Amino acid sequence: MTAQINATVAGVPRIGPKRELKKALETYWKDDSTGRNLATVATQLVNQQADNLTEAGLDSVPTIGRSFYDSMLDTSALLGALPTRVADIDDHGNDGLPAFIDRLFAAARGTAELPASAMTKWFDTNYHYIVPELAADTEFRLDDAALLADLGDQLTRGTAARPVLIGPLTYLSLARTTDGSDALTHLEEVFEAYARLLPRLAERGAAWVQFDEPYLVTDVDRDDARKADLLARTRAGYEALVAAAGDTNLLVQTYFGDGDLAIGTLSGIGIAAFGVDLVTGRTDERQADDTNVADADLLPSWTGTEQLLAGVVDGRNIWRTDLARALETLKTLAARGPVGVSTSSSLLHVPYSLAQETSLDNDPQLRSWLAFGAEKVAEVAVLSRLLTGTETEDDETAVAVAHDAVAGRRASERTRNSVLRTRTDAVTDADRRRNPFDQRREVQEQELGLPPLPTTTIGSFPQTTEIRQARAKLRKGELTAGQYHQAMVDEVKDVIERQEALGLDVLVHGEPERNDMVQYFSEQLDGYHSTDLAWVQSYGSRCVRPPILFGDVTRPEPMTVEWFRVAQSFTDKPVKGMLTGPVTMLAWSFVRDDQPLGATADQVALALRDEISDLVDAGAKIIQVDEPAIRELLPLRASQQPAYLAWAVGAFRLATAGVDDATQIHTHMCYSEFNELIGTVGDLDADVTSIEASRNGMRVLHALRDSGFELGVGPGVWDIHSPRVPEQDEVDTLLNEALEAVPARQLWVNPDCGLKTRGWDETTASIKVLVAAAEKARASVNA
Ligand code: GLN
Ligand code: ZN
Repeated sequence: MTAQINATVAGVPRIGPKRELKKALETYWKDDSTGRNLATVATQLVNQQADNLTEAGLDSVPTIGRSFYDSMLDTSALLGALPTRVADIDDHGNDGLPAFIDRLFAAARGTAELPASAMTKWFDTNYHYIVPELAADTEFRLDDAALLADLGDQLTRGTAARPVLIGPLTYLSLARTTDGSDALTHLEEVFEAYARLLPRLAERGAAWVQFDEPYLVTDVDRDDARKADLLARTRAGYEALVAAAGDTNLLVQTYFGDGDLAIGTLSGIGIAAFGVDLVTGRTDERQADDTNVADADLLPSWTGTEQLLAGVVDGRNIWRTDLARALETLKTLAARGPVGVSTSSSLLHVPYSLAQETSLDNDPQLRSWLAFGAEKVAEVAVLSRLLTGTETEDDETAVAVAHDAVAGRRASERTRNSVLRTRTDAVTDADRRRNPFDQRREVQEQELGLPPLPTTTIGSFPQTTEIRQARAKLRKGELTAGQYHQAMVDEVKDVIERQEALGLDVLVHGEPERNDMVQYFSEQLDGYHSTDLAWVQSYGSRCVRPPILFGDVTRPEPMTVEWFRVAQSFTDKPVKGMLTGPVTMLAWSFVRDDQPLGATADQVALALRDEISDLVDAGAKIIQVDEPAIRELLPLRASQQPAYLAWAVGAFRLATAGVDDATQIHTHMCYSEFNELIGTVGDLDADVTSIEASRNGMRVLHALRDSGFELGVGPGVWDIHSPRVPEQDEVDTLLNEALEAVPARQLWVNPDCGLKTRGWDETTASIKVLVAAAEKARASVNA
């Protein structure tokens, strides 16, 4: 008889409620004699978390041990598969830190001599993992001393610790190889390494071990035969793990999508439980109706042989759960087999606790609509007591209070602004359409009088220490609002003068006044709430505070017009108005779940549309609407992508199509390869798109040429992510490649992305190179 889990969560954050790990890491990186402190802080955090979860009523507590940076990176270390270039790093693995700690950090962050590993977004979240670097000859040696020591500690402390490992299919599917080989040829080897680990975990008394296989919610492979082969090998691998595990129960966990494929692939081989996400794609009204599965139709592959850990509490958004409704789902499932209660994903993606969030002190209503990590754990515990019939009176009250809160949110005027709703109802396709590009281009060329191959930048200029200090002083009251404003005006003037001196054609104000390209706007829009302490790990020691988009979004007053005016007053050259697009405004926020994302995006779009109109009235001839995150929200399954792209494109066009022919709309995209999305870039119908290109060898150019792209385009010719000033030759070559792929009349010359993380010296030197390249190329175009 296998044991059962009644109440758990799918995973835990590591950075600490007050970002304790971040601070200890950064201290250690500055001074490695502080290793003892880092070890102590990490141990305390893990122990504290285990105690909290146990006290809150969970009967199985996921643990990743002391995880110092990222779980994918931990997995590489555990499997002995850190990049070979870090093997010789002199390691300070003493003071209670894992033996490989400095090699781990060298892989994650690079050193003065060695490049860092690539980092990319974890599925469709804003969390970044360190991409494993493998090759055909990678050997997987189990290096489990650190994990076993940590777990041993957890077990002796008496918490029901459940080690969480990244499953072989997911680990390898997200890996890259340095030699072009297929990482998945290692699938059996990784299973074998885990098969060696499992008895060692069992020996230490682990009752459960969890394998995360979120890759099983994707299409896995576009090729049906390859997909079938991978799934068959995965099944065989888990069969071997079950055999190796002895009395230890295995839990296979998926998240961010439908867990049915995981169950269908792995049922009947002795896995004890499947953990699944029952939130994504199921929240009321959030998705199109055809993906909103009724409780009775959930998980057709689940026959009740294995236990189901039903993730009914949202692990990646911050809304309070409607407990009554979740309980209905749980009961419907419990009629089919054994069910335990869990979250839809790891709590890594939400802040620790509402209790410490001071920004809500004056807004009890909004607070009552929310649940952060600790509150979600409590929800799981209540639901589990209700499901097992061990509830208390307090639990019944909790159900009623939660129901009222959810209903209150839906009915509140703060979430439903009738004036705005009348306006969105009246939006027609015509509002999303401009005149044909040819016609616009003619007018814009006359209006702007730019040279061929115009030069520009993406928006931000270096956010210097002085700028950040000024903002900190404003917060602390050491600068008045007026003094801060003047400091920013001076900065804008300086940035304009520098651009004039460098000979750029289209200028920007430099964005010194923006703390962050989403938060800056969210602070000025109604329907958004900015938090004080609601930190979420983004990668390594870096945390972000995504604002909360809780209600109908409206713009009380212009947001950027004054800064545009200031900037334009210092120059006769055109200054671009600079805005963040609707999709990116959603992607980097916690977004309401009570209406389709597309409806929310349209509300943001209308606010931007008004802002653009005000910018035009203030004299802006060019307006850029950044959409760096458009690729990030792309659904994991191909079948769901067209619907997403339709609303994403629709919202961008609603924001930008209100202008007349003479106004030139720019957009900017980065963070990924856009080759497959080039059709979408065209659909946005921006007059000019600047796009990251130099890091992947301008591959986007082929896509542009093959698709017959006719709009203006600026493939980035300077990789701003590298602190190196590019050689003249390099930029000349990139620009010439661009000229071969795209007619000169369409081409713009710009860097890959904004410059806020760069210093002034490298920025000035690099822009000189960029402008010189454009001038040279112009001579040949004119000839
Ligand atoms: N305009 C923004 C900037 O230059 C764009 C940032 C981005 O693409 N992520 O900083
Ligand atoms: Zn960018």
